[in-house]
Amino acid sequence: MEKMMRMKSHHEEDPVPVLGDMPVEAFRKFGHRCVDWISEYMDRIEAIPVLPDIRPGDIRASLEEKPPENGESMETILSDIDRIVMPGMTHWNHPKFLAYFASTGSRPAILGEMLSAAFAVNAMLWKTCPAATEIEQTVLDWLRQMVGLPAGFWGITYDTASVSTMHALAAAREALTECRIRERGMAGRPEIPRLRVYASDQAHSSVDKAAITLGIGLENVKKIPTDEAFRMRPEELEHALDEDRKEGWLPACVVTTVGTTSTTSIDPVPEIADICMREEIWHHVDAAYGGSAAVVPELRHILDGCDRADSIVINPHKWMFVPIDFSAFYTRRPDVLRNAFSHIPEYLRTADDDKVENLMDFGLQLGRRFRALKMWFVIRYFGKNGIAARIREHVRLAQAFASWVDAHPDFSIMAPHPFGTVCFRAQPEGAVDTQFLNRLNQRLLEEVNSSRDVYLSHTVLNGKFVLRISVGHLQTQIHHLREAWERVKSALQAVTSSSEIDGEK
Ligand code: PLP
Repeated sequence: MEKMMRMKSHHEEDPVPVLGDMPVEAFRKFGHRCVDWISEYMDRIEAIPVLPDIRPGDIRASLEEKPPENGESMETILSDIDRIVMPGMTHWNHPKFLAYFASTGSRPAILGEMLSAAFAVNAMLWKTCPAATEIEQTVLDWLRQMVGLPAGFWGITYDTASVSTMHALAAAREALTECRIRERGMAGRPEIPRLRVYASDQAHSSVDKAAITLGIGLENVKKIPTDEAFRMRPEELEHALDEDRKEGWLPACVVTTVGTTSTTSIDPVPEIADICMREEIWHHVDAAYGGSAAVVPELRHILDGCDRADSIVINPHKWMFVPIDFSAFYTRRPDVLRNAFSHIPEYLRTADDDKVENLMDFGLQLGRRFRALKMWFVIRYFGKNGIAARIREHVRLAQAFASWVDAHPDFSIMAPHPFGTVCFRAQPEGAVDTQFLNRLNQRLLEEVNSSRDVYLSHTVLNGKFVLRISVGHLQTQIHHLREAWERVKSALQAVTSSSEIDGEK
């Protein structure tokens, strides 16, 4: 009977039952094979170029246009990882992936991710997975303690910092209780003032996107000018608030950043916290990148003033060895967040509702994966000290890179670099024209990245095209940075000796 229930298999050792799942013996076999594949991949990753040699559409062209009518063997499926997937991979886990902010995976986290996939829970309610809810609450409380935030901060995970910041702005809007926006909306209501959100001209685009999503509108995000170190100027914020209040606007939220995307500058959070408290405006801190560094005792001060903020986001998937996605959102006012989002249909009521926190009540999403398991593994495996030591080392590596740039006559550091990220550019002697230098540095970046041996990113600061290097991987060592630096210098030689960059120097 058992035999009759099985289809003729593509592979004798990989029988596919007519109904039900992959047989557990096959799962065990291919599971081991996947772990072996991953281990080997990690072992030889340095030998693989960090960037693929690929054109748009190449991967698509190697995939079947139609879905398979019948199941395929795992042998075939897995062989396509090497054949189809690998040629199109940008290797974020590569020690010479120095672009953007890293998505820092680690091996204990991969194991946690595997188990959470196996559990496949939906922790929308405490009842639907008590372990997922309570481990999430505990892990977020551990992280809170590790970065030195006070006990009054309550935490929840979302997938990304963009979504965390959207929830911060939604809570800020809800805190304007007199507007009753949750019930009545914003459109067609002349009786409510237009809302304003304030962030520095260096703030991440997720603040703009949150304003788009919540109907606040892009033009109502006021960009506050920054100083020479790319930090929000508190006096400019005060000026903007005064002006807006006089003209009838309603300030809804101020967003400060600890570790801005372009330069990793740190806004003067304590001063801005004073302003927000005095003016009674929700203060959200975007510490998506920088927040992790507060685990390092001598860097704890970067979160000074955050104890008085209303909310803060830290992304362990950026710099705490937890693979994407994992964003930790904290607020001192979870009741306001809950008021903004809790909306419970009958079919989601449980007998425990008055005794537990149902995480669906604190955000847009209903379904919720067991995201905290990987973070639990990471904190337990490395420990607070182990995490701090690794982040400290990344800062040291970036500072070493900065010192090489600084000592070279043809390169300049373009911004302070308090963390693991350095902004710099080529500025050969005699070259002063901004357009020329921008073209030169753009070509330089293309030349470096076209080697596929190292991956850097860029930004524009005060109209200047700037290269950016960011260290965050567990595998990255000083020799990788030396190799990257050699690559940058030889690329400059190649670019300046070609006649491609013309125009006034
Ligand atoms: N905030 C800052 C300061 C960032 O640098 C980034 C991304 O780099 C984000 C927010 C958005 O992060 P996520 O991709 O998690 O939405």
